Amino acid sequence: MKKTPSVSAKFICSKCKSKDCETDEIQVVSGSAWSFQKGPHFQSVTCAKCKYTEFYKK
Ligand SMILES: [Zn+2]
Repeated sequence: MKKTPSVSAKFICSKCKSKDCETDEIQVVSGSAWSFQKGPHFQSVTCAKCKYTEFYKK
């Protein structure tokens, strides 16, 4: 898989059209304490202005 430029570089908020954003990375974990499964990774991009957040599957 080739490396793509950070999603933050091309981010434009779909609510307020701001280009300022914060990125984070989360992993979905499902199940219970004794049997949990690690789900897919997601990159989150949060608008710095209005806090609208988009998720991208990694
Ligand atoms: Zn926004």
